[in-house]
Amino acid sequence: MLELADIEMVGVVGAGTMGSGIAQVCAHRGYDVVMRDIEAEYLDRGFDAISTSLERLVESDRTTDEEAEATRERITGTTDLADLADCDIVIEAAVENMAVKRDVFAEVDEIVAEEGVLATNTSTLSVTSIASATDRPQQVVGLHFMNPVPVMSGVEVVVGEHTANGTRKLAHAFAEELGKETWEVDDKPGFVTNRILMPWINEGVRALDEGVASATDIDRGMKLGTNVPMGPLELADHIGLDVCLDATETLHEELGDRYQPAYLLKRKVEAGDLGTKTGRGFYEH
Ligand code: NAD
Repeated sequence: MLELADIEMVGVVGAGTMGSGIAQVCAHRGYDVVMRDIEAEYLDRGFDAISTSLERLVESDRTTDEEAEATRERITGTTDLADLADCDIVIEAAVENMAVKRDVFAEVDEIVAEEGVLATNTSTLSVTSIASATDRPQQVVGLHFMNPVPVMSGVEVVVGEHTANGTRKLAHAFAEELGKETWEVDDKPGFVTNRILMPWINEGVRALDEGVASATDIDRGMKLGTNVPMGPLELADHIGLDVCLDATETLHEELGDRYQPAYLLKRKVEAGDLGTKTGRGFYEH
């Protein structure tokens, strides 16, 4: 079983919003990175995003010019998946489509050495199903980075049906090595973050559609009213509306109508467990 110290080279599949960010943080930590996309122009876009992000980090004194330059030089771009052959861990951040991800995993499984670990950055799809496209499901895990990767400190570790304990532990250790904090989730649709976030965004879109308020006022209301840094509509724009739609469709397909009040919510209220004001809600206060 691969150990953290064995990891020298990281493969990233996809050079979009997330892939470029993942490549950047891995290279910044000192790993050699091979970033693969299907077209050279997508790679160029990924490298542009990395350069812009590194410039911002230099401007805000979070890295030096030298470190930024070294980070950039540690990343090689390719359109040939075979160039991932020497990678110890491959993180897939291609489009949120099960068929694409299964194809990528089946191909990567053929290319990467037997002990290599394969991770997916999927937002909502089944890690177990993606893993079953390989002959090493015990070495497949979800490493769900948050957007923008260089800024956000959290990584969700998703444990599939066959994910080995060693792979799970390595996933936490690797994310922590990148300076991230982790939490662990069973392989259920949307994990923790998107299971809760996507209906919130979806409801913001409905509120706009039904004329509840303007986009600005929906976002202002949620920011000022609930102390979140971004409202649902500006966050949706930031994530990518296509990514939000793909994720929401998966949740709808897998979990059905989530908009009815949760049974547990009604039961808690009936019991008088109203939160801080009564000393007990979902927590003891
Ligand atoms: P994106 O559209 O910005 O980038 C996807 C990239 O994958 C594109 O450049 C595309 O050309 C490339 N691609 C498609 N098929 C490929 C293949 N076979 N091999 C290599 N590259 C391929 O999407 P994104 O926002 O970076 O999302 C990538 C993944 O990360 C998705 O699974 C998404 O659900 C997940 N994710 C997204 C966010 C977010 O906020 N955008 C956050 C967490 C997780």
